Amino acid sequence: MNMSLKMPHTEFKGIELYGDLRQFESMVRHTSWRVGGVADCYYRPAGIDDLGRFMSVLPEDESLYWLGLGSNLLVRDGGIRGTVIATSPGLGGMDYLGEGRLRVEAGVASAKVARRSVAQGLRGAEFLAGIPGSFGGALAMNAGAFGGETWRHIAAVEMIDRHGQIHTYSATEFSVGYRSVQGPAQQWFVAGVLQLDKGSSEEGRGMIKTLLGKRGESQPIGLANAGSVFRNPPGDYAARLIETAGLKGHCEGAACVSDVHANFIINTGGASATQIETLIRFLQAEVQRVHGVQLETEVHVIGEAL
Ligand SMILES: Cc1cc2nc3c(=O)[nH]c(=O)nc-3n(C[C@H](O)[C@H](O)[C@H](O)COP(=O)(O)OP(=O)(O)OC[C@H]3O[C@@H](n4cnc5c(N)ncnc54)[C@H](O)[C@@H]3O)c2cc1C
Repeated sequence: MNMSLKMPHTEFKGIELYGDLRQFESMVRHTSWRVGGVADCYYRPAGIDDLGRFMSVLPEDESLYWLGLGSNLLVRDGGIRGTVIATSPGLGGMDYLGEGRLRVEAGVASAKVARRSVAQGLRGAEFLAGIPGSFGGALAMNAGAFGGETWRHIAAVEMIDRHGQIHTYSATEFSVGYRSVQGPAQQWFVAGVLQLDKGSSEEGRGMIKTLLGKRGESQPIGLANAGSVFRNPPGDYAARLIETAGLKGHCEGAACVSDVHANFIINTGGASATQIETLIRFLQAEVQRVHGVQLETEVHVIGEAL
């Protein structure tokens, strides 16, 4: 644990908290698009116990927004009326339980899960290496790449409810699909247990290298974006539909469709969430007009418009 998190920092409704509690936090620095308004309240717990204490005293009707690494989120410019709970890096535990089972807390970066699993001589989680989110985000989104999908390897998860109580579920209690996961309402992931195959670390490392190389060739690197904006419609690719509608490179202010991958929108510098959302709606309308296909967003859009 970070030394600064060892001592209680803040008193909140009569309890002592170890994490970082802030009012009026700009979401710009917490999202990979580098846009978004101010959240009324932002809490970064030091660990699961700390989070439980915080939630146990929150008003029943407080609106909650869970944040991993913000790599799949568009926060509107008017910000968030409610509390943002940031799992990274506080929920950062990762432990090998034996028999191919790796327990990972929600705030661990997915790339770290991939590296740790191969170092442990486990195979199957390499695809997480290039996904720039948290493990909690991967659980919430059923993140996947190059044929791999998060929930294919999940044995069990731990969730927290509004009162700070932890519940353990087996993966079979969830309904899981392409970038979608349905489970208990009003509960959020604090950890998951991966069930992986045993195998060669050397081969696992080689696979990570290959997958990262492929990503570098097909995606814009080093520019502010949120990955694929739209879900692929059945039997097709959102990028193909956007590109063949002639929309590659199209901009709304400083928000532009990537020249490298048409399903990515880049903040080329100083874009607002409004510009990004306007471009999203424009792409949807144009793809509908040209191809007769309604694109659905994969990125989650939250918060209030200005
Ligand atoms: C360059 C780039 C490449 C990408 N490539 C891929 C890819 O190959 N495959 C892929 O699937 N995705 C990809 N993504 C999208 C994104 O990285 C994934 O969806 C990732 O899993 C999101 O994790 P996050 O921690 O950033 O989630 P966030 O963006 O912080 O949150 C996403 C959603 O998950 C919810 N959430 C987050 N944590 C929790 C929790 N603990 N409990 C409950 N709900 C939670 C949030 O409320 C929100 O609704 C890419 C993004 C970028 C920027």
